[in-house]
Amino acid sequence: MSTIRTIAAVAACKAARWTLRLLHRGGTALPGKVAMKFDPEVLRTVSRGMKILVVTGTNGKTTTCRMLEHALTRSGVRCLANKSGANLLSGVTAEFVCNADWLGRPKTEYAVVECDEGALRQVVPLLSPEVITVTNLFRDQLDRYGEVMHTLEAVRTGVKTVPETTLCLNADCSLTSSISLDVPNPVRYFGLDVPVGEQKETEISDARHCIRCGTAYEYKYYTYAHLGGFYCPKCGYSRLDADVAVTQISSLSAAGSQVRMRWPGGERDTSISLPAVFNIYNAAAAVCAFTAFAGQLREKYGTQLDPEIVFDALSDVESSFGRMENFDLDGVPVQMILVKNPAGCSQSISYLTQLNQDYTLAACLNDRTADGHDISWIWDADYEKLSEDPHLKQVLVCGDRAEDLQLRLKYAGIPEERIELVPDFASMLEKMRSSKRPVFAMPNYTSMLELRGLLSQATGKKAFWK
Ligand SMILES: [Zn+2]
Repeated sequence: MSTIRTIAAVAACKAARWTLRLLHRGGTALPGKVAMKFDPEVLRTVSRGMKILVVTGTNGKTTTCRMLEHALTRSGVRCLANKSGANLLSGVTAEFVCNADWLGRPKTEYAVVECDEGALRQVVPLLSPEVITVTNLFRDQLDRYGEVMHTLEAVRTGVKTVPETTLCLNADCSLTSSISLDVPNPVRYFGLDVPVGEQKETEISDARHCIRCGTAYEYKYYTYAHLGGFYCPKCGYSRLDADVAVTQISSLSAAGSQVRMRWPGGERDTSISLPAVFNIYNAAAAVCAFTAFAGQLREKYGTQLDPEIVFDALSDVESSFGRMENFDLDGVPVQMILVKNPAGCSQSISYLTQLNQDYTLAACLNDRTADGHDISWIWDADYEKLSEDPHLKQVLVCGDRAEDLQLRLKYAGIPEERIELVPDFASMLEKMRSSKRPVFAMPNYTSMLELRGLLSQATGKKAFWK
């Protein structure tokens, strides 16, 4: 039943969004805030009866959501997704309200929701999702060592508000998998059963010590950062067997990966159209979430959703904005890799150094509100690995804090004469256009928006918020 309050909230939200669109503004939070003024719990009404997957975690949320959305589309159903990074309560509310009719009834049956870790406790009690996936937990830009524990606690608190929702947790992340220790929810795990490359122990900075007894973890194998086959030699707390596990990585390239995956339906080879190890994790997360979701729907509603379709989706999913997104800049291939924190940045660097092809790196760093003003995290990212890469021929540096980044790269051991400071993003675009080799752009959030804006104009791709 819709109340007058709901109808008022829906009308106000839609009007606010139209106004913003007329003004050519891509605002995502304001219409939701307006709606919540009329009805603080309007999200509950406008999502009633919908079947929902939620994804949270430090890195990989957007891409995992994109994979799930693509799997649902391939299943022939329409689904709602909050694409433009509106992952707080106000943004999620706006997406759902605008998806509802004037009486607040949802127009689609399915939704894939990206949710900020801190907002989970506000969002999920209103959505009552079938499945919540937690991709991983790392220190984010501004965090110091203690703060990742606050994030973990925030996620746990959110999960506890929906005790019947199935959780899909990263088995290789000791922080993420510990969420299962004291929640009543049914849990499934995903992970990699095999190591990736060589690992230096210094990379394990976010979760060195056992979450139960404080003893330093030991590892049977590493994948990246603090992820891998961890175990505590004292109390026995350890990585659990994964329900969805990558059992072999057959190839890694700029075009994607080939892996072998064990899943509830057996074991199979699968291709993932997005490159890098972190996207293998995102793929495993998507398979875990989608199979759990299909199982829930069959049990609860008798709905038949073929779980295996998720593999088809992985093989041709397209990248989301700025995340391994490809551009053709007048014949120069450009791949854009958004980096926001030390773990993600180090992994992106590993990816570049594994490719064995000459390239130009375009590194961009801003320090605006959405980025976090403190950019000291660049000192924790493994830029040193770049200095050992003979294929890195040129580095272009740009953004509000370009000089800090330039200094960081010099300290990492990259020869000074190979690093060029570029004064603005328009000049950066021209430098990229004249590159003699493929360009990998590694911007942080707002510098990605700026550079992507220019790239999309130059190459005819869609604007960010559409
Ligand atoms: Zn222990």
